[in-house]
Amino acid sequence: MDFVDSKYIGLISSRLQKFKQVKSDLFNFRCPICGDSQKNKNRARGYLYSIKNNTNFKCHNCGISLSFNSFLKDVDSVLHKQYTLEKFKSGHTGKNFVVEEPKFNFKKPVFKQQLDLPKASENEQSKTYLESRGLNPSKFYYAENFKKWTNTHKKTFDVIKYDEPRIIIPLYDIDNSLIGFQGRALKSNSVKYITVMLNEDSPKIYGLNRIQKNQTVYVTEGPFDSEFISNSIAMCGADANLDQFNFNEVVWIYDNEPRNLEIVRRLEKTIDRGDKVVIWPTSNSYKDINLMVMAGLNVMNMVESGTYSGLEAKIKFNNWMN
Ligand SMILES: [Zn+2]
Repeated sequence: MDFVDSKYIGLISSRLQKFKQVKSDLFNFRCPICGDSQKNKNRARGYLYSIKNNTNFKCHNCGISLSFNSFLKDVDSVLHKQYTLEKFKSGHTGKNFVVEEPKFNFKKPVFKQQLDLPKASENEQSKTYLESRGLNPSKFYYAENFKKWTNTHKKTFDVIKYDEPRIIIPLYDIDNSLIGFQGRALKSNSVKYITVMLNEDSPKIYGLNRIQKNQTVYVTEGPFDSEFISNSIAMCGADANLDQFNFNEVVWIYDNEPRNLEIVRRLEKTIDRGDKVVIWPTSNSYKDINLMVMAGLNVMNMVESGTYSGLEAKIKFNNWMN
């Protein structure tokens, strides 16, 4: 295995749950892309392995297969930057590895691309599902055979035997170009969300094409939640680094789950970084924005009055936890 690759696997290993080295060039852990089994915390179906001169990631739960470069970018975008530099210095020229060159040319604006799929409003199951969550089904698409359709845009799944229908949530860049999509399962026993990036250099963010940069930009945990918050974007992976966008003001909105260690850890990290966050009132027992909206709560009001940073955020955070 490439020296730089094994070094960076070592650097992220403490962050990967149930991480273990199986062989010199084979590592196994819980897949951070799909979260692996929600019911069984012992299941670990994510693998990093070397193939020819490259290192690849594959998960036997969600079926995704990525280059280590893309995988690292998902897990830690800061470390990923360092990694690309080191790869560049070591003169790496792997097939799956493209060293990003600085971009100075401005892209021409493009028209928002329609997907080659029916709208979610045209299929009974996806329409009913979205409407039951208070969402507009004509804003999303429907893929009867998710894996097969995905592979026509980007070879992502090696096996398409156990295919399934999914709601497709398109991800557009600031200039309206399609950078990827997220597939939301319609079957209850499937991996809930699978994100596929068509442009590997783009951040895994939903809603970039519709925000006003000079106004407060809210960041929610998922695309559906962001549909209810004005001027918001949503994370479709780990917390992305938003520095590149030069937003005037950013406010992070996490789910209202003080018993969920993963959320607690991310919220604390965001506060420690000095960013603004929303701390939900302890009287609010709904665990996400969608449920609050469905319960008739004025969410935008709670968001605006519950935005804190620094020491004040720390105090409110501790109170929320207890
Ligand atoms: Zn997975």
